[in-house]
Amino acid sequence: MTSPLVPRMVEHSTSIFAEMSLLATQVGAVNLGQGFPDTDGPHELAEVATAAIRDGRGNQYPPAHGLPELRESIAAHQARFYGLGVDAGAGVVVGTGASEILQSALMALVDDGDEVVMFEPWFDIYGAGISLARGVRVGVPLSGPQLRPDLDRLRSAITPRTRVLLLNSPHNPTGIVMTREELEGIAEIAIERDLIVISDEAYEHLWFAGHPHIPISTLPGMFERTITVGSGGKSFSFTGWKVGWATGPADLISAVRVVRQHLSYVSGGPFQYAMAAGLRLPDSYFTEFRADLSVKRDLLSAGLSELGFGVLPSEGTYFLTTDVRPLGYADGLEFCRDIPHRAGVVAIPHQALCDDPAIGAPYVRWAFCKRPAVLQEALERLERGLR
Ligand SMILES: *Cc1c(COP(=O)(O)O)cnc(C)c1O
Repeated sequence: MTSPLVPRMVEHSTSIFAEMSLLATQVGAVNLGQGFPDTDGPHELAEVATAAIRDGRGNQYPPAHGLPELRESIAAHQARFYGLGVDAGAGVVVGTGASEILQSALMALVDDGDEVVMFEPWFDIYGAGISLARGVRVGVPLSGPQLRPDLDRLRSAITPRTRVLLLNSPHNPTGIVMTREELEGIAEIAIERDLIVISDEAYEHLWFAGHPHIPISTLPGMFERTITVGSGGKSFSFTGWKVGWATGPADLISAVRVVRQHLSYVSGGPFQYAMAAGLRLPDSYFTEFRADLSVKRDLLSAGLSELGFGVLPSEGTYFLTTDVRPLGYADGLEFCRDIPHRAGVVAIPHQALCDDPAIGAPYVRWAFCKRPAVLQEALERLERGLR
């Protein structure tokens, strides 16, 4: 029997994350492929969630677009960190992770054959999300040795069919954080071509000294055309809770709401209470979170660079990118398929996150959101294996 799967989803059947995690289990490798922390977030948030379950708050369907308490906290967070005036009533929608919010936004805005432009490499769910919406993805390679946005290439990728610009900064997988100047250039193109921007800011609190995150919706003329997406899983290190949200102008948010209510209908009630508390944590939580992660970044960057990798600066996210050519590998896929056997460590090749494999070929993504002892172990294994 031929596969019952609809043709447009066939190319999304396998994922590099599944392949590499399987390999990690098979050979007992340290898995620096998967991007989730190996320690939980603040204990007090876990307490809020368990107390809510115990006290019967949120155990039945919460309101479709999010608990009012959480929507208030999200609006207050956007004001506190970015000076944005978001309407907690009509300007916020809560969903089952940033993933569902992104999917809802794509399905709400993209029609048959509409083009979605994004920088390449891109986070793997974008490709499948655009296919689900029956859209067409258009990749614009991040350019130069530092993998930065190239505005001329972006401008020339826009056609009359372009509907959405899908942005992600801090950026997965590269670890770049777009500068104000880069964002201003992107904003100018979005305004000139009248595009809607979906801005995936899942890593908004994960940026390192000297590379502050700037939401593109704070730039002149951008709030009214931007859907800004946040992830409680990423901001509070509870990736299994799956609470995400979008903020923006009422017309865009109301379109996202229409689709989202027909996907998971609501997201877990008790976790929404916990996320509402998380967004109101003092500044010290957010600065310590960044400080803790930047120590891990430094540990892995320094170690990989000593081993001879070409390490690109990681300005944000859980990830850093290395060039594997100095180690004698032709490309990242070959490296990632070989190194678990050779050294017992797993990483993710950029080329699996690109339409044109040539774009990401030299690069590999490493996750450093792991305990220092785990990073140390990975480095020691690499040292022994590469010798
Ligand atoms: C993890 C991640 C998401 C998904 O976030 P969830 O809240 O877990 O659904 C979205 N975008 C990027 C870039 C991510 O890395």
